[in-house]
Amino acid sequence: MARTIQAVRGMNDVLPDQAHLWEFFEQTVREWMAAYGYRNIRLPIVEQTDLFVRSIGAVTDIVEKEMYTFLDHLNGESLTLRPEGTASCVRAALEHNLLYAGPQRLYYSGPMFRHERPQKGRYRQFHQVGVEALGYAGPDIDVEHVVMCAELWSKLGITDVCLEIGTLGSVESRALHRVRLIRYLEQHLGKLDDDAHRRLHSNPLRILDSKNPEMQKIIDDAPCLLDDLDDDSLKHFDELQRTLRSQEIDFEINPRLVRGLDYYNRTVFEWTTSRLGAQGTVCAGGRYDGLVEQIGGKPTPACGFAMGVERLLALMVECGKEIPHSVPDVYVVHQGEAATGFSWEVARYLRAEGLKAILHCGDGSFKAQMKKADASGARFAVIIGDDEAHAAEISIKPLREAAEQVRVGLTEAIDLLK
Ligand code: ATP
Ligand code: MG
Repeated sequence: MARTIQAVRGMNDVLPDQAHLWEFFEQTVREWMAAYGYRNIRLPIVEQTDLFVRSIGAVTDIVEKEMYTFLDHLNGESLTLRPEGTASCVRAALEHNLLYAGPQRLYYSGPMFRHERPQKGRYRQFHQVGVEALGYAGPDIDVEHVVMCAELWSKLGITDVCLEIGTLGSVESRALHRVRLIRYLEQHLGKLDDDAHRRLHSNPLRILDSKNPEMQKIIDDAPCLLDDLDDDSLKHFDELQRTLRSQEIDFEINPRLVRGLDYYNRTVFEWTTSRLGAQGTVCAGGRYDGLVEQIGGKPTPACGFAMGVERLLALMVECGKEIPHSVPDVYVVHQGEAATGFSWEVARYLRAEGLKAILHCGDGSFKAQMKKADASGARFAVIIGDDEAHAAEISIKPLREAAEQVRVGLTEAIDLLK
């Protein structure tokens, strides 16, 4: 026998037992997006490496350690499996001049790839739904994004999530803060880990995002970005909070919220839960007013967020949301030449009437077929012998309750089965 082959570490199959959760989620997301006027955009999974380096930032965990980058041997191009969707979305909007028609509300979904240590809630292929509003200066649209999230949680039956918000200010105020931060960190050189040493002068803000527990004390005592904010950013942040309150959204201000990508400015937010262990962030986003220009477009304000589908589904289950499996309405069993011919017709008719019908395939006695019908979970068996076929009738046997088998014509059958 040939050696069996397994899936790549950190890349998961979704088996039929779980897929109904995904389908429920996807359907809910589609309706939710439509309700807010966001349009779907479908983007490639592979992009030029430079797109991510330029947008996410060269000195970030994603670009330094997590990207699946490879050479296209046919033309020598450096390509990368997308680690996130915002960069591609902005690239596509520019490439196809979507912004000429005015601001755009867009969303995408699909797999993302990051070479991280696999653990519960952290995978190498994972899925995101991302929402981007390009051309909106906010803070009204920032609030819209938060309000949308809150509504989705309720549709998904998710209760235990908290909203943290913060602000990164403008490029200028961050430059000011950077100087103060470097000065502070230089006073604690001995306590910095390797990453922090390396990033001290290239990207000190990133140090505040460190997940190393030994760095937490230094991070906690570091100067606060909120103290270096420029007036416009402060005003934006105040207005954001005021509108959130008017929409009865609870939140906490987290002055240490930096986010793992360089392109954010002003508003940043995260939805977190304590019910998923260490991987508690289910959704994160914020404003990225500089990104469109960075990728080669005209200056365009923008805001967006992405949610981790695996984590949200896990939380949904944790919160007790039950999604029923889809079961067939009928399982059609048949025996005899005339019966088999007629059974195709019957199955087609039932489906056209909106019923879910499985037609038995493969041979088997009536008894064996009835066992399959039972195992399928169907509510009814439709039984067709040559007798029924000649009379253009079917026998219906309820499988989930003690009731008599009846023999009826097709139109009458529909009433019974529905
Ligand atoms: P984390 O701090 O958990 O690494 P992140 O800041 O790197 O998250 P983002 O880039 O903001 O994550 O992605 C948005 C969301 O995508 C996250 O909040 C999380 O729910 C999900 N996500 C990110 N990385 C992974 C992963 N490796 N596996 C599963 N979900 C992920
Ligand atoms: Mg990460």
